[in-house]
This record gives sequence, structure tokens and C-alpha cells, in this order.
Amino acid sequence: MNVIKYPDILLDSLENGHMIIDENYTVSYWNRWLAINTQIDKEDIIGKNLEDFYPDINYKVLHRKIKTALTIGTPTFYDTNSSKKFISINRNKVTTSSLQLMQQQVTISPYIISENKVMISIYDISELFETKLLIKKEMNKVNKLNEKLEAEKEIIDKNIMIMKTSVNGIIKDVSSFFCDSFNIDRDEILGQNISIFKLDDVSDVIYKELWTTIKNKKSWNGELKYITSKGQAKWFQSRVMPILDIHGEVHEFNAVYHDITNEKLLAELYITDSLTKLYNRAHFDETINLIVKNQRKADSEFILVLVDIDNFKVINDTYGHQVGDEALISVANTLKSSLRDNDLVARWGGEEFVIMLKDTTINEAKVIVEKIRANIENSIINNDIKLTASFGFTKYILGEDSKEIFKRVDDALYEAKEAGRNRAVLK
Ligand code: GH3
Ligand code: MG
Ligand code: MG
Repeated sequence: MNVIKYPDILLDSLENGHMIIDENYTVSYWNRWLAINTQIDKEDIIGKNLEDFYPDINYKVLHRKIKTALTIGTPTFYDTNSSKKFISINRNKVTTSSLQLMQQQVTISPYIISENKVMISIYDISELFETKLLIKKEMNKVNKLNEKLEAEKEIIDKNIMIMKTSVNGIIKDVSSFFCDSFNIDRDEILGQNISIFKLDDVSDVIYKELWTTIKNKKSWNGELKYITSKGQAKWFQSRVMPILDIHGEVHEFNAVYHDITNEKLLAELYITDSLTKLYNRAHFDETINLIVKNQRKADSEFILVLVDIDNFKVINDTYGHQVGDEALISVANTLKSSLRDNDLVARWGGEEFVIMLKDTTINEAKVIVEKIRANIENSIINNDIKLTASFGFTKYILGEDSKEIFKRVDDALYEAKEAGRNRAVLK
């Protein structure tokens, strides 16, 4: 085969190391780059044996590589990833702060086969090597970050209720914690419409407002009450966010829920009378005080009614306390069913109840109170017990405080009792 012989002047101008040696390692050429980087002049090394200058080279391996190059006639290489250098060359101190050995790629090419000569070329691949190291370091960082992200994603998945839906309300994803809270399987609901989650009546109305808001690309915050498949009520503080695509169009909805059922039950307990399940006195007081405090004509139009069961002591004495309790529950239910949703009824204490009739004229109140009186008189408790109640009622006068109206309604009730019970007195 033809092997090109390079003129010395060409090899001297190259920015890589080139030496020519024979199979006995006698050096016949040493280029300028090598002379500069090894600080061995060509005059000192040409004609000498490489072993005298570099006794550390693995000559068994080198010999094998030279033989291969000469017999096959093509270059052979040293493994660039090996930490062992062919010959030690310090890197240029201008580009590196500390003394470092040059990373090398070494090629052994056939030069003059008849004279068993090869050319060994040394290329500085330090920068490439450093870049590779840097990439490896950066990749490690990215991997660590990914691991951290995965760990955080898991924490979120296990502790926060999240649901992703399409624009049409098709469930695309839910967190594990969401599934746990609703006691459902993820696979069971993915791809289903969000309407599989049943809301109570009030939340149904709120829900319509929610959809209008989020379809207008705004986030919605509020409380929703869901009824689980087991008929249990659960309240959720909910935040639903529209996610926009690059064109600014809604592309999906993300919802985050926080179960506030316990807080809600506690709050309800706080304002409820445990026996009759009507509101308690504290809640009624708070409501009336709020109205009296923020007096505005429209909001302050109400009639206050005080109800006291007649001769209730006799019921207790005759039938026992437990039947007395049942009678109280029965009267409470009669009161509730005789009133409108807008009215407020509470247990005032013992066998007394208090009612606030909203937006009601005196004439209307007369009719309502009479209806309640008749309903109580006509209901039969525990199959054979009948009872009656007396009523005092009065209209709230703008400007007065709650003490004044209560004094008036109390007087009215007293008059009803005095006049023979089972009747209503207006004051
Ligand atoms: P009047 O017609 O004058 O109102 O007579 P009354 O017997 O209803 O009035 P009084 O104030 O003398 O008695 C009220 C009774 O209500 C006494 C009390 O034992 C009973 N009572 C109060 N709270 C409860 C309760 O939670 N359960 C039961 N069973 N009885 C109660
Ligand atoms: Mg009483
Ligand atoms: Mg009484």
C-alpha cells in the first residue's frame, strides 16, 4: 500500500504531536509541538530510543499496536477513556489554573512499512474531556433535581386533593389523596364526567356560578357540599383554576379541594340546640344583634315572636322527663314546618322558643302566629298527649336595641298567660 511521507515542515506546523518510531522504538522524527510540550528537543531524541525518555510506557501494548498498524496497514488507537496517558504532558498553564495532565487521543499509523516505521500522533482532547465531564456533572444535577421533583410530586399526590378535568368536565387525573377522601378507585373515575360527584341542593346552585366564572377564564373559590356514594355529606373548600393554552384559550381545569367537613360539623354543633336541633339561643342572639347593629330599613323589618308551652310542668310530672323531651322535639318540628325558609326559629331555653319573621307586616304576622298556635294545639304527641302554647309578638322599631324589643315581647307573652293561655298577644 502507498503511505504518504509528510515533509517535516508540514508536520512541524501542526498543532498536535507527531513522532515517527520504528518497532524497536528508535525515534526518527519529533515535531515542534512535541518539542515545546515535552521540553525535549528533536536533536536530543532523534536517533535515540523512546524507552530512555519514557520508561513508563507499556511497551508490550505499544508493540502490539505497532505490529497491527504495520500488518493491517490502517491506524490503531489507544482507548481515550483510559486514565493512563501515553506520555505525560502538562497542560498549558495559561488556560488552566492548576497543573493538569493533558487528555490525549493517540493514533498509531503505518508510515514506512518497509522500514517498520509508524507515526504516533497525539491530539490534545482535554477540552473535549472537560466538556464531557461538565455535561456529566450537569446531568447528575438534572437527575437529582428530577428525583427531588418526583419526591415532591409524591408528597403532593398523597396529601392534597387535586382533580384535573377537560373543558367539558371529563376527569383527566386525580391525586391519590382525592381518591382516598372520596373512597374511590382512580381507574373507576378517569374519563367520567365530573357530575358523578353528587352535590347537595345549595351547592348545585353555587356550582352553576362556578362554571360561569371558570369559563370566563377566572379562578373560583368557595365551599361545595358533596354527598358521597354512602350518603355521607362532605364539605370542601374548593379552588378551581382554568389552565390556558398558548393561545390564551381554556384548555383544562385544575381543582384543589380541602376537606372542611369536621370544621363545618363543629360550627353547626356550636349553633344548634342538641335536643330539638333548632338553632340555639347564642345563634339567635348573634343574628338579632347583627341586625340591630347594622340597621338599614330593608333589613330591619321583622316581627319577634316568643313562644312558651302552657303548663309544661304537668307534662313532665305526669309522663316523665323523657316524654317531656319528646314533646319539646315535637313542638320544635311543628314550629319549623309552620314557618317559611327565610324565618328564623330557635330554642330560647326550657320550653320556650323564639321566632324572627322576616319582611312581615303585623297583619301577616297575626295570621302566621295564629296558624302556629293552631298547629300546636292540633298535634298529638306520643299518641295521646295534647298541649298548647302562648305567644307574645311585636314588630321591631327601628333604632331600639334588642333588650327593648325583648322586654316588649316578654310583656306580651305574660299578658297571654294572664289572659288564660293558648293565645297570642300583640304589643
Ligand atoms: P306556664 O304555662 O306558666 O308556662 O307553665 P309551665 O309549667 O310551662 O312553666 P314553668 O316555668 O313552671 O315550668 C317549665 C317546665 O319546663 C319546668 C321544667 O322542668 C321543664 N323543662 C325545661 N326544660 C326542659 C327540658 O329540656 N326537658 C324537659 N322534659 N322538661 C324541661
Ligand atoms: Mg316558661
Ligand atoms: Mg311554660
